[in-house]
Amino acid sequence: MLSKFDYAKPLVLEEALNVLSKNEGDTYILAGGTDLLIALRHNLIDAKHIIDIKSIPELDVFEFVEGKGLLIGANVVCNALIESEIVKEKYTALHDAAAVLATYPLRNRATLVGNICNGSPGADLPPSLLIYDAEVKIASAEGERTVPLKEFFTGVKKTQLAANEMVVSVFLPDPGSAEDRSCYYRQTRLKGHDLSSVGVACRINGDGKAAIGINAVAITPLRLTALEDELNAKGITEESIDWAAEEIQNHIKPISDVRASKEYRLHMAGVLLKRGLTHLMEKEA
Ligand SMILES: Cc1cc2nc3c(=O)[nH]c(=O)nc-3n(C[C@H](O)[C@H](O)[C@H](O)COP(=O)(O)OP(=O)(O)OC[C@H]3O[C@@H](n4cnc5c(N)ncnc54)[C@H](O)[C@@H]3O)c2cc1C
Repeated sequence: MLSKFDYAKPLVLEEALNVLSKNEGDTYILAGGTDLLIALRHNLIDAKHIIDIKSIPELDVFEFVEGKGLLIGANVVCNALIESEIVKEKYTALHDAAAVLATYPLRNRATLVGNICNGSPGADLPPSLLIYDAEVKIASAEGERTVPLKEFFTGVKKTQLAANEMVVSVFLPDPGSAEDRSCYYRQTRLKGHDLSSVGVACRINGDGKAAIGINAVAITPLRLTALEDELNAKGITEESIDWAAEEIQNHIKPISDVRASKEYRLHMAGVLLKRGLTHLMEKEA
C-alpha cells in the first residue's frame, strides 16, 4: 500500500523550486515515475511530498545548436531521443542506449534526467552521456549551477543533488567533426525488463581519440579516462583494441549480484569494449 503524501503539480519552474526549498529529505521529484512509483509502492522511500514536474514547459526543452550542442530538458523522454535525427547522427551511442532501455510504452514515460537522478550504477544512459562530456544543470530557489556528469554520481543511488535542488537539463557539446562516431552495447538478463549486467559506450572523435563509458562495474557509472589515455597513446588498431579489452579489467571493480557474477562482468566488459571499438573502426573504413 502507498503511504500518504502531498502532491504538487506546479506549472512553472519557480513554483517547483519554492516547494523544494522546504525539503527536509522527504520530498521527491516525479518525472516519468518509472523508478519513483516502484520505490513508493515497495515502501523503499518515505515520501511526504511529491512534486510532479511534467507540466512545467521550461523542462520540455530539446534543442540542438550547431557549434554549441544539444540541450535536453528534464521532461524529455527516451522515445524522443530515439526519434531525433540529431541524436541518431551526432550522439549515436545515446540513441543506442535509449533504444535498449525497457519497452516502447515505458520509454514514452522514462526521462533521460530521471535515469541519471535515480543514481543506479546499472542505468543504461550514463555511459553514453559520459563519453560526450555531458554537463548537468542544477537549480534551486537560490540559483543555478552546472556540474560535469562524471562528478554528479557519488555512490549507489546517490548524486550530488542537495535536498533543495533539482536537475533542469543535461547539455552535450556538439561533437563537431563528421568523423565523430559512437555506439553502446550492453549485456542484460532479459531484453526490455532489466538494467544492464554490464554496458559499454565507445566513441572515436574527429581526431581519432577514443572515449569509453561503462556501467554496472562500480558503485557509479564510469568514464575510463586512464584506459583511454593509454589506448590513445598506442593509437587505435586491431592490436591495441585487443590490449584494451584485456586491460579494462584493471580499471573496473564489479561485484557479484542478482544480475551477474563479478567474473562474468569482468569478462563481458572486455568483450563489449572490443565489439564497440571494432564496430567504430569498421564504420570508418
Ligand atoms: C520494467 C522496467 C524496465 C526498465 N528497464 C530499464 C533499462 O533497461 N535500462 C535502464 O537504464 N533503466 C530501466 N528502467 C528504469 C527507468 O525506466 C529509468 O531509470 C527511467 O529513465 C527513469 O526516468 P523517470 O522519468 O521515470 O524517472 P522517475 O521515476 O520519475 O524518477 C527517478 C528518480 O529521479 C528523481 N528525479 C527525476 N527527475 C528529477 C529531476 N529533474 N531532478 C531531480 N531528481 C529527479 C526522482 O525523484 C526519482 O528519485 C526500467 C524500469 C522499469 C519499471
